Amino acid sequence: MSEQVIEGGCRCGAVRYRLRGLPLFTLHCHCADCRRSAGGPVQTWISYPKDQVSYAAGEPNRHQSSPGVWRGFCAACGTPLVYEATRIPDEVHILVGTLDSHITLAPERHVWWEEKVPWLDFDDDLPRYARFSRGDAKPIA
Ligand SMILES: [Zn+2]
Ligand SMILES: [Zn+2]
Repeated sequence: MSEQVIEGGCRCGAVRYRLRGLPLFTLHCHCADCRRSAGGPVQTWISYPKDQVSYAAGEPNRHQSSPGVWRGFCAACGTPLVYEATRIPDEVHILVGTLDSHITLAPERHVWWEEKVPWLDFDDDLPRYARFSRGDAKPIA
């Protein structure tokens, strides 16, 4: 049996990553920090255990966006790629917009709903959390 491998990378191809096995979770984040860092109203992330993430080409440059939080991007083309934080040292969050394939990776929930832009709406049935949640608390909707 072959293990699931998903690949992705930045717009110019200087950074290419490889994700092995199963992700931890996938979610839509509406926080203002993601919005500004990636330049869109909502960012969709997929999280993997760090030891299942490797780089086939290059590596992201890292910018500390708040204490203990690093956002990785391609130094050549600027594509935002990953999120890492000291409070979750064994995880890497990847922006799903940079994946080569989007099959079987549907998001599970919305987080930071309280910071969502007012003109963007969703008609899905996914749980919505006011702030960040790993899905173990009670959603607000
Ligand atoms: Zn690039
Ligand atoms: Zn966010």
